[in-house]
This record gives sequence, structure tokens and C-alpha cells, in this order.
Amino acid sequence: MIIELEIKSLPQLAYDGTYIRNQLIKQLAVSPDEIKGYRPVRYSIDARKNPVYIIQRIKVAIGEELPEDRLTPLLYKPVKDARHRVAVVGFGPAGMFAALRLIELGIKPIVLERGFDVRTRRRDLKAVNRDHIVHPDSNYCFGEGGAGTYSDGKLYTRSTKRGDVSRIYDLLVHHGANPFIRVDAHPHIGTNKLPGVVQNIRERILEHGGEIYFGTRVVDFQISGDHVQGVLTQNYGLIEAEAVILATGHSARDIFELLYKRNIDIQLKPFALGVRVEHPQWLIDRIQYHGMERGEYLPAASYKLVHQAMGRGVYSFCMCPGGFIVPASTAQGEIVVNGMSPSKRDGKYANSGIVVEIRPEDVSDFKHHGPLAALRFQQSVERNVCKAGGNTQTAPAQRLVDFVNGKISTSLPSCSYIPGITSVSMDNVLPEFVTKRLKEGFKAFGKKMNGYLHEDALIIATESRTSSPVKIPRHSDTLMHPKIGGLFPSGEGAGYAGGIVSAALDGERVAEKVYEYLHSRY
Ligand code: FAD
Repeated sequence: MIIELEIKSLPQLAYDGTYIRNQLIKQLAVSPDEIKGYRPVRYSIDARKNPVYIIQRIKVAIGEELPEDRLTPLLYKPVKDARHRVAVVGFGPAGMFAALRLIELGIKPIVLERGFDVRTRRRDLKAVNRDHIVHPDSNYCFGEGGAGTYSDGKLYTRSTKRGDVSRIYDLLVHHGANPFIRVDAHPHIGTNKLPGVVQNIRERILEHGGEIYFGTRVVDFQISGDHVQGVLTQNYGLIEAEAVILATGHSARDIFELLYKRNIDIQLKPFALGVRVEHPQWLIDRIQYHGMERGEYLPAASYKLVHQAMGRGVYSFCMCPGGFIVPASTAQGEIVVNGMSPSKRDGKYANSGIVVEIRPEDVSDFKHHGPLAALRFQQSVERNVCKAGGNTQTAPAQRLVDFVNGKISTSLPSCSYIPGITSVSMDNVLPEFVTKRLKEGFKAFGKKMNGYLHEDALIIATESRTSSPVKIPRHSDTLMHPKIGGLFPSGEGAGYAGGIVSAALDGERVAEKVYEYLHSRY
């Protein structure tokens, strides 16, 4: 008989095999030799009270062998000389998983990525951190692996299709991620491990005959009648393809502009904007673990906060325990911040985006830009913030308590953001409808998490690339653009994903629709 049950244990006992086995024997009331094997299938933390517990869901085999725990099998085909070629624009999670799925389906992906491979990309990240130079094609958002490569690598998603999510986890494990992601309730990979995973995915695509071109920006579409025939690149000219998967992410403003200019339907999309807040990690641990020592068995604590302020959601976004704040701008003259963490999440600071919903009525000053109005609003805030910081990547910052109390900070605490920070009043930098809701939100968060409004907590602007400000429509069944045959918008930039896993899932789904399209047509 195979059964599942839960064991609740103190953190220091959760990984002790003898203790867990004894608990199983006790709970199941069986003799020790009846248990033929067991395996944890889920780890989560119950931090509602002191002491904090680790809850393990365990699969136990009684009187029979425990079936082997198998990863999803890889069924890639050689596609070098495949009948069908598909251009995949963008090599972020959506593009990577679309390309892998195309290979499984026997279709050759030609991947075109404006940024560079993970190694070369590191050089450009150094330049933005140290010299304040933002490379427009190679930065924290653009390059091999997309925006997810130098991130925290959080892998949670609101998707309810657990089977599909497990498949993505399995593929990540096949390509070098820690197998613990398959059982952790809040899995993450970490910025030190992600580049290796991304590189292995690249090798997999190449070894099966797919093609990948880095440093290759797509600048136009080749369209004949109402069908796409390929894409125009800035260095290789025309790349012909029977279908185009457009997975260029939420920061590819030139792609949105191109679509608008070419009269290919796009739509304004609500998004969210605000600041990144940073606390000492020990403080967040103390609050979340009720003063209990974290020790070596509990992870750096995280949080998730939400409040309704004057009819709008104010919420935490992409919380990075033990992490760093990074400059995620994609052009000179703008400041965008985001967060990342190493796999151990052992940094001194905890950071999180705290953002306010932005709706179409908020961007009415930009309405002459049509579907690009929200994008233009986002861009104008990022530019204002940059000016306020002195036109470099030095970011405007304020002590959280000063912001809430409407005071300028006369000094700033130390922080993880390498390009540096400068004291400003956020009231002078961000739109008023945003700051007044942020203040109300922070006050509410201070009540939910006693100590959150700490003297050493800092806010930094701008957290503005939470999701795409533009949606590229697609048919709900074929997933193809309603006006352009063969054009498949995918991932976060098109408005169909928010995060690494959902973008990967969308990439796979689109690849399957491309297969159906090609087989119905040719
Ligand atoms: P992207 O990852 O944005 O990829 C798009 C790719 O297209 C880019 O590589 C870009 O260079 C390329 N491209 C753009 N225009 C062109 C063009 N014209 N020609 C050719 N190529 C082009 N999400 C999580 O789930 N967990 C996290 O912990 C997390 N942390 C993050 C930390 C940071 C610093 C950042 C920036 C993002 C983070 N995110 C996180 C968000 C996550 O990275 C994105 O949701 C995800 O990468 C979206 O995937 P995508 O494939 O749709 O687009």
C-alpha cells in the first residue's frame, strides 16, 4: 500500500532520517519492517506561531516497494533538417521552453536574441553596476535566458495546472537545477545557478539541430498579405520562417513601437509601479519567525503583503530574501530597479517591490499615444527618477519611515544596490496618486508586520517593470495574432505570463499551437 501523510517537526529535526522514520512508525502504527520506503513529496513552513515548524508531506510504501521517482522523460528529436522552421524571437523563459518543445515536436527553432550569451552578458552587468553604462541590448532584462537569468529564480506561479508546472520543474532539473525544487512549496533556483541551467538549455537546443543567434535584434517583420513570412534582423537581414513566436518580454519597447507603427493590433494593459523596499534580513527573520533564531535549518524569511488603498491594490512583488537590488534599466536616461538572490539567500538584506496598480484612467495624459499610453507613462516616470538621481544609475532613495512621515532623509542606511543611492523626497519624484497609496500601504504593512517600519528600512525608485504595459492580442484557441497569420505572441511581454514558470508554460503552449498550425497548413 502506498499512502501520503504529513509530519510536522521542528526545523532541526526535519532532515533527520531516524526521527522521521520513527514518526512514520508512530503515526501509522506499523512495525518498522513494514515500511519498505518513503520519500518527501512536499516541504512547507508553518510560521504562524512560535515555534516555527517544517511540514513534510511524505509518500510511504507499506508492505510493498516504493515506486521510483522519475523525471518527465526527454523526447527530443533531431531537427537539423526538419521540414518546418520557426523563428523564436527572444530567448527568455518563454522562448527557451518554446524552442525545447518545438524540438520535441520535430520542428526546427531558429532563435534570435538581441542580447549576448550568459558569460558575455556578465561583462555588461558589471558595466551598468560600476560605470553606470546601460547597454541597450545586454542588461538585466536582455540576453541569454531573458529577464529570469540574473534573478532570484523564484518558481512559484498562480497556475493551477500543477501537472504542467511539474513538467517545467522536471525540465529545469534535467538542465541542472537542484531537484529540491520539485518538493519545495516555494521553490527557487538563485542567480548563481540560473546561468548554468540556461547554458545547458542552449546546448540541448544546439545539439539537436536548433539554431541560436545572439547579438541579433529583430527590427521588422516580413509580412505578405496577412501572413508573416519571417523577420528582419539588424545583422543577418531577412530570416525566413513559416511561423514566428514573438517572446520579447515586457521591456522590448522597440517591438511594441514597431507593431504600432506597422498597424498590427496591440492594446494598452494595466500594470503596476512603485518602489523597492529593503530591510536588514535579520529584521524580517525576527518578525516572521516571531523572534525565533533562524539557525541553519530555516530559510531566510520572506513575506507577501497586500492592502487596498483608495480603491487600488498596493502589494509586495518579487520579494527576494537574502538578496540584492539591481539596476534593471534597458536604456540610458532611465532608472528601473529589481531584485535577485543567490541560491542560499544568505545576503544581509531582504528586498521586495511594493507597487500600486496602474489603470488606464491614470495614464490619460498620454492618451494621444493610443495603446502605448501606459508604456509612455512608465517611461516618463523612469526618466524623472533618473533625472532626480543625477542622470546616472544612482537611484533616488528615502528612509521608509521618513517617506511615510513626509520628511527628507538626512542620512541613508547602507544598502545592497551597487550603483549607489541619493536622498530625495519620493513625493517629488513619483506621481502623487502612487505615493499617497504607497504611504497608506506601508502604514498597513507596519501593522501586519510589527517592526516593518524600521529606521533602517529604505525605499528605492523605480519598481516599474512588474508586468507589460502592453498586450499583444491573440486568438484564444489558435494563440495566433487575430490579424497576422503565423504570428504567435508569447510570454510576459505579450501579456500572457508573469514570472519565469508561467512564461515557460506559455512558451510550451504556443509551440504546440505552432505545430497544429503548420500541420493544418502544409
Ligand atoms: P523575457 O525574460 O523578458 O525575455 C525576452 C527576451 O527577448 C530577452 O532576452 C530579450 O533580450 C529578447 N528580445 C527583446 N527584444 C528583442 C528583439 N527585438 N530581438 C531579439 N530579441 C529580443 N520572475 C520570477 O518568476 N521569479 C523571480 O525570482 C524573478 N526575478 C526577477 C528578477 C529580475 C532582476 C528581473 C528583471 C525579472 C525577474 N522576474 C522573476 C521576472 C521574470 O524574469 C520574467 O517574468 C520572465 O523572464 C519573462 O519571460 P519572457 O520569456 O516572457 O520574457
